[in-house]
Amino acid sequence: MFLNLASDSKKILPYLGFFLVILSPFFAEASSVEVKDIRSWSSENYTRVVVDLTNTVEFSKNRLSNPDRLYFDVKDAHISKEINTSIPVGDGILKTVRASQFNKTTVRVVLDLDEISDYQTFIFDDPARLVIDVYGKTRTADKPDMNFVKRRIVLDPGHGGHDPGAVGPKNLYEKDVVLDIALKLKKVLMEDPFNEVFLTRERDIFIPLEERTAMANKKNADLFLSIHANASPRREAKGIETYLLNWTDDEEAIRVAARENAISLKKMRAMNRQVDIVDVIKSDLIRENKRDESIKLANYIQRSLISNLDSDTKLVLNLGVKQALFYVLFGAKMPSVLVEVSFISNPEEERLLSNDAYRTEIAKGIAKGLNTYLTSAPTVQKVVEFRDHPSFFR
Ligand SMILES: [Zn+2]
Repeated sequence: MFLNLASDSKKILPYLGFFLVILSPFFAEASSVEVKDIRSWSSENYTRVVVDLTNTVEFSKNRLSNPDRLYFDVKDAHISKEINTSIPVGDGILKTVRASQFNKTTVRVVLDLDEISDYQTFIFDDPARLVIDVYGKTRTADKPDMNFVKRRIVLDPGHGGHDPGAVGPKNLYEKDVVLDIALKLKKVLMEDPFNEVFLTRERDIFIPLEERTAMANKKNADLFLSIHANASPRREAKGIETYLLNWTDDEEAIRVAARENAISLKKMRAMNRQVDIVDVIKSDLIRENKRDESIKLANYIQRSLISNLDSDTKLVLNLGVKQALFYVLFGAKMPSVLVEVSFISNPEEERLLSNDAYRTEIAKGIAKGLNTYLTSAPTVQKVVEFRDHPSFFR
């Protein structure tokens, strides 16, 4: 019996070897990450480049001079034959974006630079993509007196298209509620002739999170507000909360960010421990005093939402201002916050959210908060020392 088997396998092995040789290039490709696409958004002093991948990767970054260029080596990767490997940008910040198979296992993405002041990178998950934000030399100097200039507001109704967001027990979709609130909010804000209002979407379409931020940066917005409805496996969970971008160890906040980023809780927890996120938040902090302004903005919105609804329904629960790592707030150049306008998963709040009058009151509450922020005295510009923030030592 044993001998028989051995002689059989001798006959099979050469064939097996043959198949392995044939298949090995496919195995190599299958196990490596594919660089699928490269997208970019340009404006006068900001360019966002997104490299779409089939999985998360390790990458290294470098800058070389003569000619001035940034390059990113994506490890264990191959480049799709379908993509355009040389993209002319020519926006005064970048000349071109190029990608090539540098060696068997490395894809190199090169950004040919015109003139830049700064750049930052981060990886987003599900789908995996490498986001590169490049800042040009020209910067708006001081925050102008908001009482006398047009204030540019970008509103971002969450989700849309194939992404319904959270779905209520009676089948109410987050994407529909937040779009309606954003449209109502736009209308209220436009009553003030100094307000210029843009929406990242005005219809039921899907827009990737990184594109929403890029749109606000392109518009050179004075503030960015992403609007969402909350959800929890606990049916009794209810209330309103406003977020800004930062680490958190609050499990509830991590859960909210995981859902809004459409990534797993495990990945979300890991992201809060990731070291290169430090760099992103750090440069975010320096950038035009953004963090202090975002805290201020979040507080104004939260306060006026609560006071506006309180007199009305007596039902609203103030969950306060919180922080978490929301993809949609990464790299936003202006004060930016995300508001969760009630829990669609709570039967009572779902009923309220389906009510036109309640949505109008939410819009009015947010508008009041935004207007108060915009007409308040600008926070004095100061250099923020990282040491002042205990969160940087986590
Ligand atoms: Zn949402």
